[in-house]
Parts: sequence; structure tokens; C-alpha cells
Amino acid sequence: MPENTETGPFLPFARPDITEAEIEAVTETIRSGWLTTGPNAAAFEKEMSEFLDGEDITCVAVNSATAGLHLAVEALGIGPGDEVLVPTWTFTSTAEVVRYVGADPILVDVDPATLNIDFQDAGRKITDRTKAVMPVHLAGIPVDARELEDFATRHQLLVVEDAAHAFPVRSNGKLVGNSTSDAVVFSFYATKTITTGEGGMVMVRSEDLAQRMRTMRLHGISRDVFNRYQSTVPAWRYDVVAPGFKYNLPDTAAAMGRVQLGRAVEMRDRRRAIAYGYLEAFRDLPVELPLVPEDPQNHAWHLFMLRIDAGTAGLHRDEFINRMSDEGVGTSVHFIPLHLHPYWKDACGAEDADFPVATREFERAVSLPIFSSMTDGDVDKVIGAVGRVLTR
Ligand SMILES: *Cc1c(COP(=O)(O)O)cnc(C)c1O
Repeated sequence: MPENTETGPFLPFARPDITEAEIEAVTETIRSGWLTTGPNAAAFEKEMSEFLDGEDITCVAVNSATAGLHLAVEALGIGPGDEVLVPTWTFTSTAEVVRYVGADPILVDVDPATLNIDFQDAGRKITDRTKAVMPVHLAGIPVDARELEDFATRHQLLVVEDAAHAFPVRSNGKLVGNSTSDAVVFSFYATKTITTGEGGMVMVRSEDLAQRMRTMRLHGISRDVFNRYQSTVPAWRYDVVAPGFKYNLPDTAAAMGRVQLGRAVEMRDRRRAIAYGYLEAFRDLPVELPLVPEDPQNHAWHLFMLRIDAGTAGLHRDEFINRMSDEGVGTSVHFIPLHLHPYWKDACGAEDADFPVATREFERAVSLPIFSSMTDGDVDKVIGAVGRVLTR
């Protein structure tokens, strides 16, 4: 970590919010002798379904959101010849899993305010091969659940939500994860709103889908290890029914996740308080502030993104990032749109001009630290730094 006597210790862009409770839970799990997927993973799945509060929801724990997205598209039977609509403004995971199953991601431009998928552009990209849509709830602002459902119904599409930024948050009164979508996938990566270090959870409504995902997350074995030791069938007996993957969540991670789940609302409320502090402090600065939904329930505040115009702010976003670093504050950019990456540009034959909003907004976007373990002093440090950088 760069250290500067004037600015104090460097404030990283993100840091997990881990208390003694998580440390104790993980330690207890290690002492128990059961490290891989077992009772903690099963309890985590059950507690997650209860949290999402849906009647017929099943949760499947996995070792990353990427794994969960892959299992979802696999279980839904998406494959060669199929097209899947993916917003260009996302992490590469969302599109890469479509490739894993041999299908074609079709990149879609985004809404300038939310940076979520633009359903008008998505509509223009429908063909008779379009099989599914994978919306991303960017920064923690959910895609409008009704609009998504209407779009999917109208075009008869499967829906897999990338909810890596969207826990916990509501859309039209319902928690993301409790929608009519075929699958909703959360990430518990180290920088996400709740974390297990690496991990993820898939919500599905169909027991058949859940069963396929449970099988495929563990080598295509038809029952997982925990069940094997619970059942009266001999422990050594199992069937391989498909060439599956190694995507199961270890109990050490699940133990951490259960504690984090219990703290999810409190951590979200802290991020919201930090966001409102920023909004107030930056009101008069020459910068575009993030969209604030009328109902505070409609934002998970995973990211706090500013948009900086070189013209009005007097410096380009890249220079802002350098100056913030000089001030001892880490920032980041979420995301470099997929069509600007060499692989996706080639694979999708994407031209910048096909994504006017994402291409333009990418030049302006920067994310500030907004993690729940920030102290008030950390928040003041960010506010002071942004103020100095933008009013020099
Ligand atoms: C973090 C992230 C992912 C991937 O999550 P992993 O758990 O690291 O696989 C996918 N999509 C988006 C939008 C993300 O931010």
C-alpha cells in the first residue's frame, strides 16, 4: 500500500466487512473437521431462501457467481445456435458463460441513467435464435422487474439475472431474487455486498433446475457428498450422469456467508448512509452524481459512481483517478464495456458506434469507495479528496 505522511494510510477502493462473528464461525467449522460442502452450505442455502421470502424458491450454493451463471445457462438448455442478450456494460462473466455452453452473447447498449440493459436496444436485437436475456442490476439499482417480465414474455425468453451487485435490494416491492425469472445469481466475491471470499448463490423456482445444478456443480454426480453420508445407501455408492463441474461451496466459506447474511441489511444501511453523505457533500461540485431512486429500498449501493466530464470538471476521469490516488484514496471503474475488450469486439463483431451510450459513458465513469466497514473518518477522507481534486 502506498503510504504518504500527508494523506495518511491509503484507503483502498474496497475492503470486506468481517467481524469476530465471521472469524468464530469459520474457526468453528475448521475445528469441526468438515471443510467441504456439508451442513453449513445446506443451512446457508435454506437461510438464503428464507431471506428472499419466496414460497417456491430453491437456492443452490456455488463457489462463484460465474459458476452459478454457467450452471444456470447449462441447466436451462441454452446451447449452440442460441443467442443470449447481454448488456455490454458488465463484467466479462455474464457473457463468458454463454460462450461456455457454445451459444452467442448478443451485446446490448445501456440506459444512460442506470447503465442497466436498454430494453429498446434489446428489442432491436431479437432474432428467431434469441433464447434468453441476462440483465445486470448495475451498482445495485435493479432492472425494473415488470419491464423485464414484460420483455421476456413478449419475446418468449428465458431470464437469468446477474444479481452480483443486487443483494439486498427491492424492485417493485420484491427482493431481487424473488422474481419470476428462471434463475437469479448472487456473488459473494471479496468486494461484493456480502462475501465468502469466493462464492455465489443461484435462486431458482424449478426443482428440476435446482436438481440439475446440484448434480452439475459436483462432477455430474447424482447426489452430493453430504447426502451420501446421510443416506442409508452405502457411502461409497454414486452415479456419474454427466461430465459436470467442480463448483461446490466449501463449508468454511458457507459458515462465513451465514454470518454475513445475518448482517446484510445492517451493512446495506451503512452503505446507504455513506452514499447519502457523499450526495450531500458533492452537491455543488462540477460532477454528475449517481441516480437516486425515490424509494430508498430500490438501491443496494454496491457502487457509488460519479461521472466526470473533462469539459465541466477541468480534468478527464483518468486524471481524476490519478489525483485521487495521490490523495490516498483508491477508486475503480465498473466496467470497461465488453465491446471495448479485444476478445468480445472480435467475437461479437462489435463497433463502438453500435453502443453509443456505453462508449460515451465509459469515458466518464469512476467508482468511489463505499464499503460498510468504512469509518466516518474514511468517508471524510474521500469527501475531502474529491472536493480538492474537483475544485483545484
Ligand atoms: C463480480 C461480478 C461477477 C462475477 O462474480 P464471481 O463471484 O467473482 O464469479 C459477475 N457479474 C458481475 C456484474 C460482477 O460484478
